[in-house]
Amino acid sequence: MIDVIDLKKTFGDLEVLKGINVTINKGDIVVVIGPSGSGKSTFLRCLNCMEDPTSGSIIFNGVDIADMRVDINIHRRHMGMVFQHFNLFNNMTVIENIMMAPVYVRCKELKKAKRKGTLAPDAPKTKAEIKAQAREEALELLRRIGLEDKADVYPSTLSGGQKQRVAIVRALAMKPDVILFDEPTSALDPEMVGEVLDLMKELANEGMTMVVVTHEMGFAREVANRVLFMDQGKILEEAPPEEFFAHPKNERTKEFLSKVL
Ligand code: ATP
Ligand code: MG
Repeated sequence: MIDVIDLKKTFGDLEVLKGINVTINKGDIVVVIGPSGSGKSTFLRCLNCMEDPTSGSIIFNGVDIADMRVDINIHRRHMGMVFQHFNLFNNMTVIENIMMAPVYVRCKELKKAKRKGTLAPDAPKTKAEIKAQAREEALELLRRIGLEDKADVYPSTLSGGQKQRVAIVRALAMKPDVILFDEPTSALDPEMVGEVLDLMKELANEGMTMVVVTHEMGFAREVANRVLFMDQGKILEEAPPEEFFAHPKNERTKEFLSKVL
């Protein structure tokens, strides 16, 4: 699904990613670990081109999205992203947060389909119909996480765990092919970490493809099918969790694990 080939990223003189090669297959749960400053966030941000790679390729569903000539917006829709600090829009209600992107994209598609005369017979035909449908879907997602009654409140009134679960279903609302998580539980009070990890586990069990930067080694052991260790802009080691934790090969992996386990 995603083939990363010799991905490099520099900021000025600083080479942050020094040639990353990795393949992410459909249904993979890839956990990325590594010390602070090793380039984990930069790697995720390059994966969906929030950050322009300096060189290398990111082949996503057959298209090199690192190529400047590609319309990244079309492809980014299929990649969800969940951040450490939730990044909900505080001036919108919970349900508006979830509906916003699907409504925007579907309205654009509707316009295009009308122009080209390719509108499907059962597709919504007006913005109001699109909104009504997106609202139903958003309510269904909120029901799933037990927050239906929070649909019309603002994010500031939610707990951290609730905010992050809303951020996750907001990503789901776009029906993405893959979701990228950057330390989704790092900003949470300890008692809220579990509810967010449980939701992520559910998605994993349903076959969602996920790339997760996290310090939660329990999650890595239990849910990942591959663990990557990044250090100084490179992937130094990659293995299934059983092997990764029991028999790390690289000295720096061993040293890192001795500090975090
Ligand atoms: P952490 O575990 O602390 O989140 P990380 O592994 O996610 O660390 P990155 O945030 O990817 O690390 O940062 C890697 C390096 O790139 C750091 O030295 C950081 O200062 C640098 N860096 C990241 N973003 C930028 C930027 N926009 N401009 C300049 N330098 C940057
Ligand atoms: Mg980071």
